[in-house]
Amino acid sequence: MPKFCTPRERMTAAFNFERPDRVPVFLNNSLGSSRCIGIKIGGMLRNPEKFSAALCAAYDRFGYDGIRVTCDVAVEAEAMGASAHSPEDGPVSIKAPLIKCPEDFDKLKMPNPLSDGRMPVMIKTTEMVRRARKDAFIISSVQGPLNTASQLLGVSEMMLLMIDDHEFLEKILDFTTEITILYGKEMYRAGADGLMMGEAVCSSSSIGPVFYRQFAKKRHKSIIDEFNRCGLRHHGFHICGQLAPILSDIAEIGVDSVDVDSPVDMKASREKLGGRLTMLGNIAPSELLNSKSERIKQLCAEVLSGKERLGLVLGAGCTMSPDTPEANIRAMVEAAGEYGVYG
Ligand SMILES: [Zn+2]
Repeated sequence: MPKFCTPRERMTAAFNFERPDRVPVFLNNSLGSSRCIGIKIGGMLRNPEKFSAALCAAYDRFGYDGIRVTCDVAVEAEAMGASAHSPEDGPVSIKAPLIKCPEDFDKLKMPNPLSDGRMPVMIKTTEMVRRARKDAFIISSVQGPLNTASQLLGVSEMMLLMIDDHEFLEKILDFTTEITILYGKEMYRAGADGLMMGEAVCSSSSIGPVFYRQFAKKRHKSIIDEFNRCGLRHHGFHICGQLAPILSDIAEIGVDSVDVDSPVDMKASREKLGGRLTMLGNIAPSELLNSKSERIKQLCAEVLSGKERLGLVLGAGCTMSPDTPEANIRAMVEAAGEYGVYG
């Protein structure tokens, strides 16, 4: 019997740069899990019983190696009182920015993850999947400080503040950094094996490395330092789009993993920093939605090729469409068995 051959063991091995039986598969398929039990996304994201049942059903059906408890980028801002738009069958979004002037910021209170908005729904969902699937590796999501600030201010307004009034922005970012730590710790307490911090706006497709270093890097480091101080590991960042110009910065802050989105060259990234960062990715969600399963297998084989595959997890580069064909999800798991076995 090879070592590390249950889903949770495989993922843990990938984080520890150890050799499991095969490369694990971990997908950002939480919205699509609704289809496995025939429910709509809107209701699922406000009900931990439904959400956990859907996540477990998808995990059982497809045989991938863990469960990602993630929904949308609106949870934190909604918990602070921003009004949200909840479509019947789609993710929640913020209707209007909560911070329109400095006085609005002064009125904001730190959210209580156990009682405010949907934070308790996501915490309870994490608790329920942990209890229900002890062999699954569970990663729960929270937003990073820039993503939460962008939901409170509006994305373009936040970017303008980077140029016009960075003192005010720094105050907001210090506040949102605390939220990431507070809410993240609750996810670990609820039983998550790891944490994924969404920081889409840190993408080099959005702000560029200079602004990343000025506004995000030190805050990301303080978050990771605090989690490490508390012994909370398997943390990572999900940064949509291009990441290559800040990959070394991300490795320097001491985070354990990073999602590699499809515009990023996975092979080059692994050659550069594969020994320091566990990398998850990087099949494009658009390919998963639109291509035939033979093509998906071929793309997976490319990700899985190469001599050194320690610290590699096969996954989608970004959030998968809920309408992704089942055959393409199965193709990823099959590809890991065919091309991802460690010799
Ligand atoms: Zn993304």
